[in-house]
Amino acid sequence: MPQCTSLWSGFQGSHWSKRELCLSTQLGACCAPDSVDVAFMAVLEKPVTPAEVSSSLRALIEELVPGGQPAYVDVAPLENASANDCFVHVPERVEVEGGSQILGWSLWELPGVFVEAEAHSVWLRPDGEYLDIAPKNSETARVFFLPDPSLRYQGRQFNNVRRAVVQNQFVQAYLDTFTDEFDLLNHGDRVGQFGEISLRGEEAAEYHAIQARRANAFLGVWPRLPELGPYLPCPCGSGKRMKWCHKGWE
Ligand SMILES: [Zn+2]
Repeated sequence: MPQCTSLWSGFQGSHWSKRELCLSTQLGACCAPDSVDVAFMAVLEKPVTPAEVSSSLRALIEELVPGGQPAYVDVAPLENASANDCFVHVPERVEVEGGSQILGWSLWELPGVFVEAEAHSVWLRPDGEYLDIAPKNSETARVFFLPDPSLRYQGRQFNNVRRAVVQNQFVQAYLDTFTDEFDLLNHGDRVGQFGEISLRGEEAAEYHAIQARRANAFLGVWPRLPELGPYLPCPCGSGKRMKWCHKGWE
């Protein structure tokens, strides 16, 4: 099951609910720390589709695709398809309906905390429109997509590229846990495996240790989460500021 790994659980609609912090993984495991109750907190707590190319985002783009220009692409997930299999679904669609597969990166941002790029592919329809047809673990109206002509899919999962935008030990520790988890889940023979994976013994303990470190680090990240406000990117993922999208959510 090739994946565009988005490790964040879904935005729950127009209200903020307590949700998993370690998010959906290939294991389907989740572990919300009891010590953080995120209910009713008016903060943006997961990365969203950016509303602009900030200097931090520009730096990430330059790192990946020098001179690259991202564009918003509507999300219209296929029904009855497994989540995050863009590298499979798009070629299938091309075979049936034409067009082509475009590889690149979905860009995400938690303003003031970190920026993130997720390897992804979208469908360039025969009529010239781009469409993101891969079902997602988290709902987003649009993705901010950066085409990358050098990206090659070879049946292996890509790790997301995450960059802190503040110098903060908790933010860095938090982001490092995602890389640690990726490395563990793709260790050895698992590099070419997809779908459910079972970890045993030391590896299972290591997995839980990573989740515990993430939960701990998040306690330090929490105070840095941006407060909801009219100029933040809308949590619906439109790439518009809240003021001009879901006004009232802030
Ligand atoms: Zn919105």
